Amino acid sequence: SSSAAAKSEAEGKNKTNAEDDDKEDKAAQSLLNKLIRNNLVNNTNQVEVLQKDPNSPLYSVKSFEELRLKPQLLQGVYAMGFNRPSKIQETALPMMLAEPPQNLIAQSQSGTGKTAAFVLAMLSHVDPNNKYPQCLCVSPTYELALQTGKVIEQMGQHYPEVKLLYAIRGNKLQRGIKPQEQIVIGTPGTMLDWCGKLKFIEPKKIKVFVLDEADVMIATQGHQDQSIRIQRMLPKNCQMLLFSATFEETVWNFAQRIVPDPNIIKLKREEETLDTIKQYYVLCNSKEEKFQALCNIYGAITIAQAMIFCHTRKTAGWLAGELSREGHQVALLSGEMQVEQRAAVIDRFRDGKEKVLVTTNVCARGIDVEQVSVVINFDLPVDKDGNPDNETYLHRIGRTGRFGKRGLAINMVDSRMSMNILNRIQEHFSKKIEKLDTDDLDEIE
Ligand code: ADP
Repeated sequence: SSSAAAKSEAEGKNKTNAEDDDKEDKAAQSLLNKLIRNNLVNNTNQVEVLQKDPNSPLYSVKSFEELRLKPQLLQGVYAMGFNRPSKIQETALPMMLAEPPQNLIAQSQSGTGKTAAFVLAMLSHVDPNNKYPQCLCVSPTYELALQTGKVIEQMGQHYPEVKLLYAIRGNKLQRGIKPQEQIVIGTPGTMLDWCGKLKFIEPKKIKVFVLDEADVMIATQGHQDQSIRIQRMLPKNCQMLLFSATFEETVWNFAQRIVPDPNIIKLKREEETLDTIKQYYVLCNSKEEKFQALCNIYGAITIAQAMIFCHTRKTAGWLAGELSREGHQVALLSGEMQVEQRAAVIDRFRDGKEKVLVTTNVCARGIDVEQVSVVINFDLPVDKDGNPDNETYLHRIGRTGRFGKRGLAINMVDSRMSMNILNRIQEHFSKKIEKLDTDDLDEIE
């Protein structure tokens, strides 16, 4: 029938929308995290260390003084407000600063101090008296390179002899003139041109090579190959350092091609749990009914700050519009916004300027807003095949150990299919999700 055709067309559209959101690129996500992060992520796990030479003693430091940094750099570290090394820095810094320098592959989630660590290593290894590039750092995008550049500038604020140059498209150097900056940071394509055919950089003089955000890097066609070609031009004794937030097989294979004889450091993400979370579901028949139910509980959920998750940008936009029309002040975080705009929305929400943030799965992935104690799944999280996405469910509403404040999660169910998903999520976590009657809210208040 024509209505069935219309329905299937609508579903087709929804699918395209969700897929668009899914393509949300990793680089934008990573940049967003950098823009909104202003301190270390807490992690109580132990770092796992695999040493190149298992017989050499394992050093780890509890203070920056122990590292015997140049005084200008120690000053820089303190100027940034760092009191002591982060978990990953405790082990990574002594390895990176050792003589002779050691190669390192390090993996830990974003916000654990990787950038600060390799920036300190680069600044420690350059000789400011030599006016030519000695450290290369490749990043997946121009914007990410710029963020790292800012850290180099901050950390090196008391070490003005060391200069920084960006190897990015658009930054044209005059032919035949060799740059004098000791640190070059950029994207793989331009960096390769500068080392190779344009000969701005003499690769044989490079002492430290850093490859940042390896997982984001390999998501871009061509970056892997370009990075490997740069690496091959470098001298054997050049220190190779590679960092990644995640570590799938593909990242690992790439890492091993870039970094010979590596030391390996890993810090597991802190486990999230549902133990301190009260979970409910609300039974509805349509999107409109879900909206009505949401209005009924609105007063109760906005006592604290709430995040509302939708499956597509379209639903998120619609819901934010409807809520505004009802006179509620809500913020919308959507994939079509520029990264900077998104960072501004998250900042306002974190400052409590808005009580409710409506967003899509993908958009909010990896973003931690600690003060959120109410999570509404306006749509349940499903993967691209329509199966329950347990990992996303846990990440949205779960809390990590020590910071496990009590929380509330409300799931909106509007079809037999979504009820089935809810049941499967419930089974997966072996934790009851109670039915909530939105006309009688005594329970959650
Ligand atoms: P990553 O590269 O793993 O994402 P960053 O190096 O960017 O992590 O660090 C995350 C945040 O923590 C930044 O705001 C950074 O300034 C801060 N930071 C890094 N190391 C320390 C430290 N030792 N003490 C305090 N803050 C730190």
